[in-house]
Order: sequence, then structure tokens, then C-alpha cells
Amino acid sequence: MLIDTHCHINFPDKFPNPSETVEIAKRAGVGKLITVGCDPESSRQAIAVAEQFADVYAVVGWHPTYTKDYTTESLDEIEEMLSHPKVVAIGEIGLDFHWDYATPEQQRVALFDQLDLAVRTQMPVVFHCREAYPQLLDILEKRPPHPYLFHCFAGDATDAKRSLDLGCMIGVDGPITYKNSNTLREVIGQIPHDRLVIETDSPYMPPVPFRGQPNQPAYVKYVNDGLATVLGITAEECADLTTQNALRFFRIDG
Ligand SMILES: [Zn+2]
Repeated sequence: MLIDTHCHINFPDKFPNPSETVEIAKRAGVGKLITVGCDPESSRQAIAVAEQFADVYAVVGWHPTYTKDYTTESLDEIEEMLSHPKVVAIGEIGLDFHWDYATPEQQRVALFDQLDLAVRTQMPVVFHCREAYPQLLDILEKRPPHPYLFHCFAGDATDAKRSLDLGCMIGVDGPITYKNSNTLREVIGQIPHDRLVIETDSPYMPPVPFRGQPNQPAYVKYVNDGLATVLGITAEECADLTTQNALRFFRIDG
């Protein structure tokens, strides 16, 4: 069994028929899916999708790029969502200095509020981090230990070491299959096997051979194959270990 630990089948414009998407994924051996919100509305949609399927789970929170609209009051709603039985983490939260839809200050305010919320509710955290690894790691190193996962890890070897020292999990996506991703493969190849999970980030980040097309959870198999090659293990062994890691991190019963 494979687990797609990060997809956005809760985006209705990208996945108008999530039942079909889940069905195709199941036929491709994807036993469980985790669908991730980016603001209160898409978080509510993530829960709605998770309620429809026994093997779909939700992650809720404010993505850094969306935090222009963040208010402290909106956190109450996120907190309420966290008590839903299908919600397994707070996310995707973090810092994104590639896009400037929200200022670094707006991103930081939402990040700190949500990190405090995660501690208060004892929920694992899924990070989105783009061009901001040193800055985000500086923040995390000053905080008490907490279960963290860097979704779609794209940091360098130093960022990886600092993340591992904090106990973080590392999410591997389509780029592990890209021809020009040698640096990423070198970094991922050094990560201890018990820290790795696989994800699609559907509809984004399609793996080879689907580049240029919309991604979907069924394609997590190609990410698993790519990771297995990097680790020098069989696809079956890789599926096994990433599934165990995902179940443990998200506290889902196998
Ligand atoms: Zn995402």
C-alpha cells in the first residue's frame, strides 16, 4: 500500500469529481490520501472530502501565501476543525519568500499563531517552505520539540541536517524523478529511512512521465519508484517504509 501524504483533491476547480480521483488512486495501490487546506475555506473542503471517504484524511490551516487575509479570529475556526476525527495535522503553514502575495510579516504572524495552536492542541505540523529554509529553521530551533513534516522538501544539505536534528519528517515529491534534480537526490539519499514520506502535491508537481499534465494521487507510485532508486531499495520496500512512517507521523491506524 502507498499513502499520498499531501494532495489537494479538496480544490473543486482542480478536482471536480474527487470520487473518481480516489477510485483511480485506489486502483493504483494508493490506500490512503491526505488532502490539505490552504485557508479556512479550502480546509473546510478538505474535511468535507475526508468525510466522504474512509481512507481520506484532512490537514487544515493557513498557507503562508494566503496569509494576507489572515486574522487572529480566523484561528478559532481552524482550532474547531482540529477536533474533527478525520483531521490529522495543522498545515500547510510556513514561509514562502518566492511569492509576495503576503508580506514576510503577515506570514510570520500566521506562522507563530499556528505553531502555538499546534502546541496547545498537540497536533503534528505540515510545513510549506519555499526559499525560506534558514529563516524557518531559525524559528523552529528556538521552540520546544514538536512533530514537524517538511512537505515537498527542497532545502540543501545544511537545511536537511538542521531539519533532521529537530526530528522533522521529509516529504518527497515529483521532482525526485526530474532529470535535473541531482542535488535533491543527493540530499534525499542521505535522509534516514524512518524520516521519509511520499506525496504528490496534486494537482501540482507531476512526476516523470506526466510533466506538463495535472498531477493526481495515483501518480504517487512514480514518486515511490524514484525514491526507491535513490535509496537503493525495492519499490515494495520503499512503499512499506514510507507507509509506516506516514501512519506513525499522522497517527493513523493502519
Ligand atoms: Zn500543497
